[in-house]
Amino acid sequence: MSSAFPSYEQAAAVVSAIAARLVELQHTVNRVGLAATSGRVLARPICADSDQPPFTRSTRDGFACRAAEASTHEFLLLAGITRAGEAPAGPLPAGTAWEIMTGAPVPEGADAVVMIEHAEVSEGRIRLLPFRKISDGENMVAQGAQAYAGDELLPAGTAITYAQMALAASCGYSALDVFQRPQVAILSTGDELVPVDSLPASGQIRNSNAPMLAALVAAAGGEPWVLPTAADSAESLDSALAQAAQADMLLISGGVSASKFDLVEPALARAGARFHFTGVRIQPGKPLVFGELPAGNARLIQNENDARQDESGRMCFFGLPGNPISSAVTFLLFAAPVLAALAGSRERGPRFALARLSAETDRRAKPGLTRFLPAFCNFNPTAGRLPEVALVPWQGSGDLAALARSNCFLVIPEEASSLPAGEIVRILLP
Ligand code: AMP
Ligand code: MG
Repeated sequence: MSSAFPSYEQAAAVVSAIAARLVELQHTVNRVGLAATSGRVLARPICADSDQPPFTRSTRDGFACRAAEASTHEFLLLAGITRAGEAPAGPLPAGTAWEIMTGAPVPEGADAVVMIEHAEVSEGRIRLLPFRKISDGENMVAQGAQAYAGDELLPAGTAITYAQMALAASCGYSALDVFQRPQVAILSTGDELVPVDSLPASGQIRNSNAPMLAALVAAAGGEPWVLPTAADSAESLDSALAQAAQADMLLISGGVSASKFDLVEPALARAGARFHFTGVRIQPGKPLVFGELPAGNARLIQNENDARQDESGRMCFFGLPGNPISSAVTFLLFAAPVLAALAGSRERGPRFALARLSAETDRRAKPGLTRFLPAFCNFNPTAGRLPEVALVPWQGSGDLAALARSNCFLVIPEEASSLPAGEIVRILLP
């Protein structure tokens, strides 16, 4: 009975609580060359190796001076010049200015930089243009204004992208300690599935979920491990689950609906599964199963003195409904946050944003289900406008072409049967 299943929010809260627990486990650490750290998660903080900036730096081409002297608008004698890369000059003699380039150290004694555009230069002297003002600290960044030597700049658990790599480089890290990526077993089930390079016989289809889930896993910080496809039989599923026990997390696609060939749940139960939920009031993806299995997992080391004794001996699994759009949506909503936590990341999805609906949604209501429908959003609207989103026409949750033409999912709340054009709506970002 569908009403027995948790709502989207209830299921998300269950996942969130488990993710919060998993991120606290002690994770294996790898040292990785800086250039290869994009997409990884910091295992140790990044600390400043020196003051930032390491010297008081000019942010403009212009003239270093004392603001009080420049503010008189009298001419100041040019006492010297410093280019970026040169050591700090100074002290600056009284009544003088010092020509300076962006990024160059400000001479000792100067407390401001007059922009070149705001100065009148004449015969080796400069003055601040009469209608311009300058005050202390203008156009320069004082030594240590961003951080002092030894300060923590980024905590462990930060996901690394270009900006974190640049910061690490500025502090002299040629390699970083990052968490080992969790290995995620991907088990496709279904008698109808053939590999991508096979020609399907009548009634067969190619296994498109395995490459899709592998890509989603990699994007969420995991290391995909695609297992051989399992048949819809108890024996086949039992042996596949035994093999998957070596992984840090398991994604099973297919076999969780209600037909007599949906044998995944009983197989999980035989393998000792503890189920957190076996359905969610969402569409697509209602038959989603989430739970934990006993695991021979050596990768997640238990914190010593940790009371949560059985934690490291269990492995999270998701039984994703086999329809491709159901698999993708349920992965993004529920599996990605668990995977991020296993990867040690303190930033976890799912990510939502607001957009304006460009046309009314259909009225084929599925009351009582939160819907996540393939949609296309223009993320580059004219200034001051919200992004505009529209549903992508689809023939149901098996419509891979619709999925591939979408770039987000429109969220239709449980209580709404349809949404009018112009409405501000939530979208789920991939
Ligand atoms: P199931 O969840 O096993 O009932 O499958 C639901 C639908 O998804 C069926 O039409 C399956 O053929 C399809 N399906 C299941 N697994 C896959 C897969 N790995 N790749 C593509 N389609 C799949
Ligand atoms: Mg199936």
